[in-house]
Amino acid sequence: MTYDAVVVGSGPNGLVAANHLADHGWSVLVLEAQPEIGGAVRSAADVHPGFVHDTFSAFYPLGAASAAIRELRLEEHGLRWRHAPAVLGHPLPGQGWALLHRNREVTADLMDSAHAGDGQAWLDLCDEWDRIGGHLVDGLLTPFPPVRAALAGLARLPGVGGLGFVRTLLTPAAELGSTRFGGDAPRILMAGNAGHSDIPLDAPGSGLMALMMTMLGQTVGFPVPEGGAGELSSALARRFTALGGEIRCEAEVTRVLTSRGRACGVGLAGGERVPVRRAVVADVAAPHLFGRLLDRADLPDRVVRGMRGFRMDPGTVKVDWALDGPVPWAEQPAYAPGTVHVADSTTQLTESLGQVAAGAIPAAPFLLAGQMTTTDPTRSPAGTESMWAYTHVPQETAYDAGDGSIRGTWDHDDCDRFADRMQERIERLAPGFGSRILTRRILGPRELEARNANLIGGAVGGGTAQLHQQLVFRPVPGLGRAETGVPGLYLGSAAAHPGGGVHGACGRNAARAALLHDRARRLLPGRRPA
Ligand SMILES: Cc1cc2nc3c(=O)[nH]c(=O)nc-3n(C[C@H](O)[C@H](O)[C@H](O)COP(=O)(O)OP(=O)(O)OC[C@H]3O[C@@H](n4cnc5c(N)ncnc54)[C@H](O)[C@@H]3O)c2cc1C
Repeated sequence: MTYDAVVVGSGPNGLVAANHLADHGWSVLVLEAQPEIGGAVRSAADVHPGFVHDTFSAFYPLGAASAAIRELRLEEHGLRWRHAPAVLGHPLPGQGWALLHRNREVTADLMDSAHAGDGQAWLDLCDEWDRIGGHLVDGLLTPFPPVRAALAGLARLPGVGGLGFVRTLLTPAAELGSTRFGGDAPRILMAGNAGHSDIPLDAPGSGLMALMMTMLGQTVGFPVPEGGAGELSSALARRFTALGGEIRCEAEVTRVLTSRGRACGVGLAGGERVPVRRAVVADVAAPHLFGRLLDRADLPDRVVRGMRGFRMDPGTVKVDWALDGPVPWAEQPAYAPGTVHVADSTTQLTESLGQVAAGAIPAAPFLLAGQMTTTDPTRSPAGTESMWAYTHVPQETAYDAGDGSIRGTWDHDDCDRFADRMQERIERLAPGFGSRILTRRILGPRELEARNANLIGGAVGGGTAQLHQQLVFRPVPGLGRAETGVPGLYLGSAAAHPGGGVHGACGRNAARAALLHDRARRLLPGRRPA
């Protein structure tokens, strides 16, 4: 059978692209290499009986804020969002917790009681975000250049302090908090949120990340799908198949087929060929798409040259725990947070990320952690906790900045020792944590990549988020859009602008580009759109 389009990969971007094309009446087939759909949005019930663990991603502020996902109205397809009592918490040894509550007044009160004046400064920041934040997020999530969102944002700029606000956006995360706040809580919350990407905290771009994630936390929260991350993928798939779309799992695409320079189908492992009439959308890692699935001869020189400079983001080690009780935090937070950041101070956080950037396995890794049953009680039996933490490690290890016991080969022993190091970080803050563990699962870089080929070396972001590989430089200088230089082939994965995170924007951008070029081809049959 010939489809209008094939989408290679069923991650959130692939499924958003597939829905978008099906909404326009296209016949679409999604081909997924793994036995299950969802890419890095999946959950597993086999870590411990009665527990659900998210295999990769867990919290979806970008999904809640992104028009690409919101417009699909997934709630009508069974998706239900759940929120923790507090969005985010950061235990400060000996000084309680820095907390982001869903209610900004509560957050402000907590900050003010720690440092007088910070409460009002927080509300002022929220007020500025209310006026301009939506346009910033829209601008980041639409194809480059984001003309409409930029114009709307510019119109509101004077109301939020003009160039002063632009300067805030450009201020590195390590400094951002101290320019507005006197206490530690807002500073470390923002710094930790910048640590969700691999932009060094002392580099421009990290402040924008810090501000955006923090203000999204304050405005839309860090929601999770009831029942597990996989429920988000299932809702996307249900919507798509209800429109007549088809999905095949265990169908690895090994070739993008071309005819006279135009993508005309895909080839599968095993030899089957699937022809397409209109487009191939690749929810595929850029190094795989341009380095394996296409012939060098099919690619424009600028793509080949640009890909030589393409850099993945760091690797990841993720640990999942099934706990027989709640995390025994030595100091109980006033409100239980879903997401927890672990670093003793902003200095230690900066140091840990800096070590990774320098090729060192961090001595005191910065942990991103999730208390999933606290956030969604369906994840494990009452009174227990489904918990995870992950942290980043170098793609190429130069040395271990800790006790020297980890080599960076990420075999079983390396992963086990490093998981112990991560666990000790929690044990110090929650004595007795280890005695609550029923089961521990460790996913090192190799295990992550084996479950999803896009996670090269355990990279979670589809390529570094640093400025030199963002916007018009993503994935290669001069692209910044879904077009690949091969007519009929669109890059719809996190390797494309705007990059990592579950927002579906890369997929929607790819689908829109395919629709636009198809219309142009029909109107101007002689022309070869990019
Ligand atoms: C451990 C971890 C934690 C994360 N936490 C969060 C979080 O909390 N919140 C958040 O917003 N983001 C988070 N992220 C990032 C987010 O999950 C990704 O940015 C997002 O899933 C990217 O979506 P995608 O569709 O581009 O690719 P993916 O989700 O990676 O999906 C790609 C899919 O394509 C398939 N595929 C690839 N090549 C082929 C081929 N040749 N043939 C067939 N199929 C193929 C893969 O098997 C996979 O299913 C996390 C990521 C990881 C790994």
